[in-house]
Amino acid sequence: MEDKKLTDFNLSDVSELFFGNVDAVVIVDSTIDTYKSIVRRGIFEKFLEESGSYHDLILDLWFHFNGTNEKVSGEYQIFADNTGKFKGKYSRRLKLVLKDEDVPHLVQLTVYPFEPEKKYIFILDEFIDNESLQESLTTKKINTIQETYLFSMYIDLVQDTTSSINVTEISDDVVNYNLKYSDWRMMIVNMIWPDDQEQFLRRTDPEYLKKNFAPGRTSSYDCMMRNLEGKFIWVKLIFSRAQTFNEDDYRFVFMVQDIHENSMELMSTLQKYEEKATKDPLTGVFNHGEVEAQLNSALANSQKSENPSSVMLLDLDLFKKVNDTYGHSIGDTTLKHFAKILMEFAAEERVIVGRWGGEEFVIVCRDKSGEEAYAMAETLRKKVEEYVFPEIYHITCSIGVTQLKPSDSFKEAFDRIDKAMYASKHNGRNMVTLM
Ligand code: GH3
Ligand code: MG
Ligand code: MG
Repeated sequence: MEDKKLTDFNLSDVSELFFGNVDAVVIVDSTIDTYKSIVRRGIFEKFLEESGSYHDLILDLWFHFNGTNEKVSGEYQIFADNTGKFKGKYSRRLKLVLKDEDVPHLVQLTVYPFEPEKKYIFILDEFIDNESLQESLTTKKINTIQETYLFSMYIDLVQDTTSSINVTEISDDVVNYNLKYSDWRMMIVNMIWPDDQEQFLRRTDPEYLKKNFAPGRTSSYDCMMRNLEGKFIWVKLIFSRAQTFNEDDYRFVFMVQDIHENSMELMSTLQKYEEKATKDPLTGVFNHGEVEAQLNSALANSQKSENPSSVMLLDLDLFKKVNDTYGHSIGDTTLKHFAKILMEFAAEERVIVGRWGGEEFVIVCRDKSGEEAYAMAETLRKKVEEYVFPEIYHITCSIGVTQLKPSDSFKEAFDRIDKAMYASKHNGRNMVTLM
């Protein structure tokens, strides 16, 4: 064929050349959900079977989001179900990720429908210079959209129709799903976290959208939604009404943006701030402010509830001597170990521990009588007495215990445990006193 002149070429030469070069040719009969591979070369030797399910092929071709080979969760397939129904010629670029590979292959897919209907020829070709092509085709902007936007739809409330704006692949064409907005909405709601479903239905209600969105107006809110792999992630649901001068034109763009990583980061930052605001930095138990709030809440509770609550005040014995003999740093270490004993005890007994200041700690015992709290304090006193502290080996503590009375003010309650604790000191330390 090398010597042939251009004028001598005929159709069969061209088909021979074409079928000798193209990577894959597949014949599809969608009425019986079957495809048959006519040509399979290169990556398609692995990607295509001799024959198989057309539905599975469509899913494999369409859903390679974020350049991964993750399987699509069942719910997400609602975005693919109508993708395989071609009425005319169709062509697009896809990123295919093969099993056990990480780097996507850039592929051009062309579909030719043939008579009578629902039968197609698929032509698939891989771009050889994948890297440079990817770079030229996929601008940074599209990459960003691909990573953050899971999907977006055009919605026409008057026509009650939806069509997808496909930003999850390289092309940005619009695919009409022939899905009514009302049906689509009921499909999506199943992918929303159960607690957020009511809000989703309220805010996607056509009447709500018509009433609350002036032309050009955009609004959004965050919720949890199932992703391609079936995991719940944080997303931002964005609704934007098209700019229009026609009062009766209710077209919207609906977008789902993946904000999971940012949300998780934000939540962990908030958690850190909350910890900072409520925890004592040296020992990790609640700080003065927080334990005071807990004490107040226990007082309020004892006025309402039949169950009494109790409070303990603990003070290390002759702690000043530790600082004087071993230094301030060993003093701090002692406080940390003391707090650790209290925290372990608190976790077991479901009580709340805080540092009142210096070497004084408070334990709030919800729904515990004075006698019960006394018994707990006695156990705790023994634990401290037996504990082997670094460097100093042993130290003891004195404890005051009181049951909260419904008539107590904060001051009255606190004066009583303070007195009880000082009674323990006065009577020889390493003691528990109930008042
Ligand atoms: P008592 O048995 O009567 O309670 O004797 P004490 O020595 O424990 O009592 P005192 O109130 O005289 O001393 C408390 C000491 O605790 C004084 C202070 O230096 C020390 N202290 C308070 N806060 C800290 C701290 O954060 N770190 C260290 N290392 N020491 C502290
Ligand atoms: Mg003290
Ligand atoms: Mg002390």
